[in-house]
Amino acid sequence: MIRRRLRLRGVVQGIGFRPHAYRLATELRLAGIVRNDESGVSLEVEGDEATVERFVERLVDELPPMGAVTSLDVEPLAPLGQESFAIARSEAGGPRVVGVTPDAHVCEACLAELRDPRDRRYRYPFVNCTRCGPRFTIVRDVPYDRKLTTMAAFPLCEACRREYEDPADRRFHAEPIACPACGPRLTLLAPGGEVVESEDPLEAARAALLRGAVVAVKGVGGFHLACLAGDQAAVRRLRERKGREGKPFAVMARDLEAARTIAVIDETEAALLESVPRPIVLVRKAAAGLAPAVAPGLETVGVMLPSSPLHVLLLDEPVPPLVMTSGNPSEEPIVTDNAEAVRTLSPLADLLLVHDREICTGCDDSVAQVAAGRPRLLRRSRGHVPRAIEVPGSPAAAPILAVGGELKGAICIARGRELVMGRHLGDLTNARALEAFHAEVDRLSRIVGVRPALVAHDLHPDYRTTRYALGLEGVERVAVQHHHAHLASCLADQGLPFDEPVVAAVLDGTGYGLDGTIWGGEVLVGDATGFRRAAHLRPVPLPGGDRAVRSPYRVALAHLLDALGEEALDLPLPLLRAHDRRHLEDLSRLLAAGLNAPASCGAGRLFDAAAGIAGIPSALAGEITYEAQAAMELEAAASDLEAEPYPLVFDGAALDTRVVVRAMVDEALAGAPPPRLAARFHATVTAFVVETTARVAREEGIGRVVLSGGCFGNRRLAAASEAGLRAAGLEVLGQERVPPGDGGLALGQALVARALARE
Ligand code: ZN
Ligand code: ZN
Ligand code: FE
Repeated sequence: MIRRRLRLRGVVQGIGFRPHAYRLATELRLAGIVRNDESGVSLEVEGDEATVERFVERLVDELPPMGAVTSLDVEPLAPLGQESFAIARSEAGGPRVVGVTPDAHVCEACLAELRDPRDRRYRYPFVNCTRCGPRFTIVRDVPYDRKLTTMAAFPLCEACRREYEDPADRRFHAEPIACPACGPRLTLLAPGGEVVESEDPLEAARAALLRGAVVAVKGVGGFHLACLAGDQAAVRRLRERKGREGKPFAVMARDLEAARTIAVIDETEAALLESVPRPIVLVRKAAAGLAPAVAPGLETVGVMLPSSPLHVLLLDEPVPPLVMTSGNPSEEPIVTDNAEAVRTLSPLADLLLVHDREICTGCDDSVAQVAAGRPRLLRRSRGHVPRAIEVPGSPAAAPILAVGGELKGAICIARGRELVMGRHLGDLTNARALEAFHAEVDRLSRIVGVRPALVAHDLHPDYRTTRYALGLEGVERVAVQHHHAHLASCLADQGLPFDEPVVAAVLDGTGYGLDGTIWGGEVLVGDATGFRRAAHLRPVPLPGGDRAVRSPYRVALAHLLDALGEEALDLPLPLLRAHDRRHLEDLSRLLAAGLNAPASCGAGRLFDAAAGIAGIPSALAGEITYEAQAAMELEAAASDLEAEPYPLVFDGAALDTRVVVRAMVDEALAGAPPPRLAARFHATVTAFVVETTARVAREEGIGRVVLSGGCFGNRRLAAASEAGLRAAGLEVLGQERVPPGDGGLALGQALVARALARE
């Protein structure tokens, strides 16, 4: 007989691990005990050596689907002659643990019950167990216990209680356990909030959708607005009501087969679609099947599969793929509350399908894509929050709060070796989003169980998050340069050491530079402890600063004037003909006088300029209708076309973008079509990334390169840059677990703060 103590770390709490260990031990007739501890799970197990070994093997091999083991320590103990295996209750008031897992899509076992007419949970939209169901979104406080979730409002019936208390049951301590007798229920509401009487609210909603109605549906992380994705009139109605002109809508399909009627999906994308977090995956549109108004001007469409049993039932035959867009007035956080939904979504929806399980924390859908064969998150939210990202090295001395950027708000809390990213908060210049940011700092700190002592923020003095950080009392602060944070974000994302230098190509729209100018097309050398700017794009003054960001034609004009002088105004380009000559001359004078015309090296702005020169419609006139629209349409125009880069000429450390602009204008005037111009421009930015980064790496004797910044959400750029750098013999890593854009910024800020705090 032997006895062993096992310590497991990773995602092992809140996933049904203890019942898993219990069932396995019972099956193998081993004695012992399992308990949650501060950093994971610990077990003691006793029996003959071979069986104990088999137990350890199967414990990990057969781990519940949401789990992940990052380390397993085994230590010998003296046998106690114990006869049975027990589950120790978590102690309330004990050390707090990151015991809250992300929300997870319904598991196979629950799905089988949902489909079984003899099961008491047949067609019950709130079926869940220890392996699946809502988590983060229903938690009010820790420890993770039904009393402290929004399920506290539903006293358990006898049958549910028996399951909840039976260690051998799949629902042993499944905190959100529910059934039709005791759990949440669906209600159908009219836009005024009156209850629409119907035998089956779900069927009534399905029938309305099939008739072309817009229905607000309360999901796991908040409300969606749904309508038929193939019905142009319905989709246009939704756009008009939402006041959302061009921004693409996501689509939900019942299963892969249905998704393939509207999109081209490869095996990696299929696996990503079917993964437990159920993200929106950006995939190539199929030739037919989607109303043109779903994702106008783009080659891709965001597709997701059902992320809750309610969605599974809603999309059952004969309902075809549905538009499922966040239910919110534009720019505001996703709506979570029934009364608020009636207030704010009624003008948008013909019906509201609601339920009485409260959402404590709203959570938008996560967004992902596959680039260069690897899945990458572009928005980290539902299904991923609050899973920790573990970094190598010794634990941080002090708990850290990193407040992130501004337009794509997301915070990070660091404790020990774990960095916990919060949910997507949206544009923090919006008052409601900023409120959500404040609440998030509070709630995520509680869930992680720390009171941050060190606060990392962006160098930009006017970011809402910077002002928040500067207003905190009793904490230490670290200001982190924007692109340094992007570099560090990639280090943490990829589990790289914080203190081994890399060369980083960081391309984004905008970031406050060390010299007070706007950076955004950077090649940096450094690690989390510090960096040097080795190369960048030529700074070009932009008329109207922030206004230029919304009006790519202004950016294009600025680049044309920079490259060609006043004569640029006479060029027969569609871009210039789309505007009144006097207006263009005014802008030109403004630039010449240097009035409200900050210089920017942002790569995103160079994309805007290129889109304008290439004649991409959204870049020609007025304002874009969503962020990065012109750049995304330029990427769509380039499609898979192969092309040579324009020549790269350097002026010291700066790429002379004037040479690129002149070459592109020449080609445009010679009649080159937009796809060719777009493809050559992409090849040019790729060449800048590859050649410059490789040169700096060679000079510095560094073999590892990281790519970050929002521009690497551009699939074509990311894939080609990685391939080029790999061909140059370099190890190249891009962001995967957090977004390359500002949604991943807080992770890098936290790593930098961590590195500086230790010095
Ligand atoms: Zn389940
Ligand atoms: Zn029940
Ligand atoms: Fe950025």
